[in-house]
Parts: sequence; C-alpha cells; structure tokens
Amino acid sequence: MQQPLRYYSTNLAAETVTFQQALLKGQAPDRGLYMPCEMPQIPLDEIYSYPGFSYDEIAFRVIRRFVAGEIDDSELSSLVRDAYNYPVPLERVTGRKYIMRLDQGPTASFKDFAARMMGRLMQYYLKRNGMKLLILTATSGDTGSAVASAFYGLDNIRVVVLFPGSEVTARQRKQMTTLGKNIHVLALDAKFDDCQALVKEAFSDPDLDHLSLSSANSINIGRLIPQSVYYFYAFSRLAMENHPESVIFSVPSGNFGDMMGGILAMKMGLPVKKLIISTNENNEFPAYLDTGVYNKIEPSRNCISSAMNVGHPSNLARLVAMYGGMMDEKGFIGKEADMERMRNEIFSVSISDEQTRETIRNTYNRYKVTLEPHGAVGWAGLLDYIDKHPAANSPDQLYVSLETAHPAKFPDEVFRLTGVEPPLPPALEGLEGKPEFVKELPVDYLAFKRYLLEEF
Ligand SMILES: *Cc1c(COP(=O)(O)O)cnc(C)c1O
Repeated sequence: MQQPLRYYSTNLAAETVTFQQALLKGQAPDRGLYMPCEMPQIPLDEIYSYPGFSYDEIAFRVIRRFVAGEIDDSELSSLVRDAYNYPVPLERVTGRKYIMRLDQGPTASFKDFAARMMGRLMQYYLKRNGMKLLILTATSGDTGSAVASAFYGLDNIRVVVLFPGSEVTARQRKQMTTLGKNIHVLALDAKFDDCQALVKEAFSDPDLDHLSLSSANSINIGRLIPQSVYYFYAFSRLAMENHPESVIFSVPSGNFGDMMGGILAMKMGLPVKKLIISTNENNEFPAYLDTGVYNKIEPSRNCISSAMNVGHPSNLARLVAMYGGMMDEKGFIGKEADMERMRNEIFSVSISDEQTRETIRNTYNRYKVTLEPHGAVGWAGLLDYIDKHPAANSPDQLYVSLETAHPAKFPDEVFRLTGVEPPLPPALEGLEGKPEFVKELPVDYLAFKRYLLEEF
C-alpha cells in the first residue's frame, strides 16, 4: 500500500492528520476544515475509461485516491457498492443541456450521496478499532433524515436526532421517526436553534466524555469527497466518445459542500470549463467574487429554496484555500485568494425567489421538465451564464445543472406553478402507515443529559 495522504486544517494552526483522524474528528482543533495536503490526480485516459463503469465503480476509483494506504481496495469496493444502490438519472432538457437528478436516494435529497458514504467509512474504522460512536444531530428537517437514514442499521454507531416538533413537515418527521433500531429521535417543543444549543452544550460537557459524542455535520471531509464523484459520472455518461471536450456545471449552493465536490473533481483533472455557483437571495458569494470583499449576511434571508438559506457558507474557507488564500471560520480573510484565477474558473450569480418560480414554470411549460426550487436556482444560474457569455453557447457545449431534491418534497409550490402534482418517489411512499419511534423531551439541558446517560 502507498503512503497515506495527509490532511491539513484551513486555519493552518493544527497538525496534519490521516484520513481516519480527519473523518472521526470532523473539525480540526484550530476550528479549521480538513483538506488534502496534495490533490490526487486522475489521468485523462482513466477518466475516458469511465463510461465502461457503473456509478459505484467510478466512486471506488475516485474515493480510493483519498484513502489509499488506509482502507484496502476490496473493503472500499464493498462500501461503495453498499452505499450507491440507486439510479442517477441525467435528463436532457434541450440540445446538450442536462439536469442531473441527485434525488433518487433513500431520502430523495442529494445529501444521501455524502451521508451514506460517510456513515459507512466511519463504521469501517469503528469496527476495526472496536469503538462506538454516538452521533448527536439537531435538524430542521432534511439533514436529520438523510443522516438518520444513512446511519440506520450500522452496528457501531448510534444516532440521536433532535428536531423542533412543530417546525418540520409531517413527511420529514416520519422519515426520521419510523426507522427505529439505532436511530433515536427526540421531538422538542422548541425552535431549531434551541435543539442546536442542547447539542452544543452536550459536546462540551465532560460528564459525557465516555459516550464518544460526534457530529455528522456538513464540514466533515468524509462528506465532501463523495460529492466529487457525480461530476465524473455525469461526464462519463454525456461526453462525446470521439473527441475531448469540457463540461460546464451549475450547482445550486448553500453551505458550498456540493460545489466543493465540483472543485475537487476539477482539481483532480476532470475537464470542467466553468463551475457556475448559483445562490438564492443570500448573495454573499457572488458579491465577493465580484468585488473581492467578503461580507456575510446576518441573519440569512428566507427564500423558497430553504436548504440554501445560508448567509456564511461553512465550506467557503475550503474554496478560499484552493485559491491560495486563508479564511477563518468567522469569515475573516487572513490572506487574499487569487481572485483572478477564481474568476477564470468560477461564475456565480444570485437568483431571486421570483426568478426561481418563473424558472419552475417556464422549464415545465417549454420542456416538460419538472424542477423544485433548489434545482430551479441551478438552472436559472445556467441560463444567466449563457445569457452573459453568448460565445460560450455553441451547440457543442455540454452543460449539466444539478437537481438536489425531488420535486415531490415541495408539492405545493410545484403544483401551483406547473399544475402537476409530482408523483411520490418510492423512497417517500408508504410513510403514513408506519409506526413512529419518538420521544418527547422538554427544552432543558439537564433533562437531555439525563436521557443520554440513562439510554446509552
Ligand atoms: C443542502 C441542500 C442544498 C445546498 O447544498 P450545499 O452543499 O449546502 O451547498 C441544496 N439543495 C438541497 C435540496 C439541499 O438539501
């Protein structure tokens, strides 16, 4: 086996670590985010061979670059096969412009791609070391269900999900509460922030040290790496066979985990001509790219693409690091990034709710393609890019816009704009009749602590 890749912290004040340490720690001790010290490279002729492989086989070839020397090939190959057992449709909209639907996983959200792989990687190390982990996660809906579903049935990991009882939809609630086994769900008569506060207090409580508490939040490198795979997959399925070409992706973005997957793919050697970062009205990044001055948005603006209502993307520090700069967790820039190079490779645009709705309506009316609000932000960003770069719009240019959730998760908005009710994907069917495993708890740290000590 080769020398394992090491990972550094974007705050540059912590030791480098192995993949295992980065995965199990999540955040670096200096509050920075882990990134590979060297970017693994995938040669073009290997990338050109990917049309001959299935999704999980491509995932194996990409992810092994980051864990080589730590997880052997046969283990990794069975982990990816287990994680990726659902389709990844590429739907042609018009010409060579496509939607990649990342909404066919068990919770019908693109977060399944990352959470399922991270869960299995964690389980692999825990089993090998004879360790158990207790994951605490507060959720306002989607992250909790993706994490709960991804970790369901893994022996060495128990999960406690806290959610605000009156703030999640009936369907989101059922996605978490009907699992059982190692998934423990607490409904609180509280707001999301109160749930989050209880979790944070537990993490810093020495009385709970013996429980090996961990979080599964979106800054974990184990969630980021799997998100580079579908960019390779899209290229393998859509690139012309007989001449080299490059692709333009548009990514609807909130915390920037998804688009960082695209940056990793580009830096590994995938021929990406441009990455379009499409945000909703939280336009802190497009403004930064434009001016070089960064101002987070506090509080974040409420838009219909609710999973992207982020006023300071937690993965932005990683992007800045990729362009030679340094940004700390609060958004303070310690060293300027190479903005020229960033502008060459990235285009970014903010899409209003009005444009988002118009896009859902128009895309359906013109092409009979159904988008939900997040995917519509991506598609609108793609159209805006073409509008501003007419020369880039040759009929040969390949474009792929990412759809990050299933339209059936936003039935009211989609129905109002298109007149069609999106059919429920199998993943979301039959939830109504299932029994719930859920406990109600007051918003009180001592009660929460007592629960953890008695239950685990
Ligand atoms: C989380 C989420 C996003 C944003 O992804 P980031 O990686 O945070 O940028 C977009 N769409 C949906 C449906 C999501 O759940």
